[in-house]
Amino acid sequence: MGETVMRIVVIGTGHVGLVTCGTLAAIGHSVTGLDSDEEKIATLVAGRLPFVEPELDELIARATGEGRLRFDVEAPEAIAEADAVFICVGTPPLPSGEPNLIAMERAAEIAGRYATDGCVIVEKSTVPAGTAERVRRVIARVRPVGRGRVDVASNPEFLREGHAVRDALEPDRILVGAESEHSRAVLRRVYEPLVARGYSLIETDINTAELAKHACNAFLALKISYANALAQICERAGADVTAIAGVMGADSRISRSFLDAGLGFGGSCFPKDLQAFERLSARLGYEFRLLREVMLINEDAISAVVSKIQDELWNLDGKKIALFGLAFKPGTDDVREAPALALARRLMAAGARVTAHDPEAMRNAKQEVPQLEVAPGALDAAAGAHCVVVCTEWPVYRTLDLEALEAVMAYPFVVDARNIYDGKVMREHGFVYRPTGRPNVDAFRANVSP
Ligand code: NAD
Repeated sequence: MGETVMRIVVIGTGHVGLVTCGTLAAIGHSVTGLDSDEEKIATLVAGRLPFVEPELDELIARATGEGRLRFDVEAPEAIAEADAVFICVGTPPLPSGEPNLIAMERAAEIAGRYATDGCVIVEKSTVPAGTAERVRRVIARVRPVGRGRVDVASNPEFLREGHAVRDALEPDRILVGAESEHSRAVLRRVYEPLVARGYSLIETDINTAELAKHACNAFLALKISYANALAQICERAGADVTAIAGVMGADSRISRSFLDAGLGFGGSCFPKDLQAFERLSARLGYEFRLLREVMLINEDAISAVVSKIQDELWNLDGKKIALFGLAFKPGTDDVREAPALALARRLMAAGARVTAHDPEAMRNAKQEVPQLEVAPGALDAAAGAHCVVVCTEWPVYRTLDLEALEAVMAYPFVVDARNIYDGKVMREHGFVYRPTGRPNVDAFRANVSP
């Protein structure tokens, strides 16, 4: 370790910031994590995590236990001693679709005010191309005379919630956008332990790094929407979208990942980053129509589920619908822009009574949609329901006792918006089964004559 130990401050200890704190401490650096949310810092100081993320609690506990990581609300002295300050604050969407960069500005002000000569201020948050120039101007405005020079760099984060620790410690690539030899050298030293383990570090200019992050997220969202559009055709043509994804994925130019048809993408990144990218493009004079279509197909995925339910149950007024899964994906308690919540709102607006289960996200979901009923287990949620919708592919639903599920429901109807069940097995268990982009299954019912 020796001379590669760097003093690092991370501003914003949310999903990205906290993983950044843990990762940079784990690879040997001395890290201070700052957050303006006093409650969050109190939780962290008490040794607890403010959200669910596999492996993160051990990573943070080890780093704090070994004295390489500490948390505070503010720490001007830590910033003054830092070789690099990583800004990891949120960049949520404004009603216009542009990202709200006020937290970026606040963080840049704090870093710019206290950092000393040679410090590199690094944007890790996802921001539109051109933001570094804004950050430079903020720093120039607040920086006291005689404190020396600081550099600005970009180091976008590619972690996936639910796999964040693995993604950060075993990254597909590390992206550094920098304009000065000094900032490139500082970031090479920061990531040297990961590069020494064989992980690649790509260096670009700052605008390219900022834009690359949006390009990646938009492309992944595009793959999901492509699969969802395909699912629509498959349902009409009697084909199987999962089999097609397998065929496509066998082509090394395409890759199988992100080709799962379903309820569409959500979370705090894809919807916001697509909008931000589309808005940025428009501002720069290019109409990126493809991105708008990706968003529309994503909205259609929820309408498609509502239509399937209405086709089978006719009027939703007075019907009970159970949602399996509320988090925007498995492995997290994050419900930001979760498609399950959008679906719940649509169903409730149509008069249905909606009860839901999720292994981790029920508390957060109740905060977003207070009228949502939640149940302690999947079977409890399904008891007396006329329909179950699989919204998040948590493993617990894959291994559910289907016989028990059929027995507790008022009508055994399952809309599988994540394609986790096998049609043949569902038929054997007597379900009316509507997967996504795959053949429908209607168990034989001899109780009504035509
Ligand atoms: P988050 O909301 O979980 O965390 C942001 C944190 O910043 C919060 O704890 C908030 O209190 C803190 N904060 C806000 N203003 C502050 C200030 N002025 N000073 C100190 N702290 C402040 O957000 P996140 O999911 O970690 O995302 C952060 C950024 O990283 C966003 O730009 C996001 O798009 C990007 N990103 C997120 C992910 C992801 O999977 N969540 C992945 C890659 C990139």
